[in-house]
Amino acid sequence: MGLFTYMRDRLTGGIVKLNDRMKLLGALVGHAFTYATVVHEAKHARDRESGRLTPEKQIAGEIAAFRVQHDWLALMDPSGERMLTLWGALKLRRDRAVDPDAKAAYAEAVVYLEHLSDVRSTGGDEDKLKKLVHKLGYADGHDHHDHDGHDHGRAAALPPARNERDRHFRYVSA
Ligand SMILES: [Zn+2]
Repeated sequence: MGLFTYMRDRLTGGIVKLNDRMKLLGALVGHAFTYATVVHEAKHARDRESGRLTPEKQIAGEIAAFRVQHDWLALMDPSGERMLTLWGALKLRRDRAVDPDAKAAYAEAVVYLEHLSDVRSTGGDEDKLKKLVHKLGYADGHDHHDHDGHDHGRAAALPPARNERDRHFRYVSA
């Protein structure tokens, strides 16, 4: 859903991008929840500018970004009740939707909230965050890494890009 792209040879100029599907997702789950993805990518951008984020320390970078994401969720929904209520309502709409496009959109929103719930349930704990990052398929030192939280582990199997984009490092997360 979110993506942070940067160059190996310089600290500035990294770019945060959000998937176009975020527009619809934001309308379904509310922008307060989709900001969780924005703060995650923003943390990567900040860490890169300060020199903390490197391809060799991708796992540490993800742990830091997921921790900030957790903190945002804990701040905007302290009891987790908003997320739970929304998840239940969207699941109901998904199951009742007749139009396939609407059904797919609700299904995506449900999966997105489940991913946020995984982040939330770490409680910001270092070991739990580390387990989550591994579960999502991140690894240190990969030149090209693409991850979508909707397809756990898929990214780890992606072959490295063989063009000028080899010089980019991409971080994608739900
Ligand atoms: Zn990330």
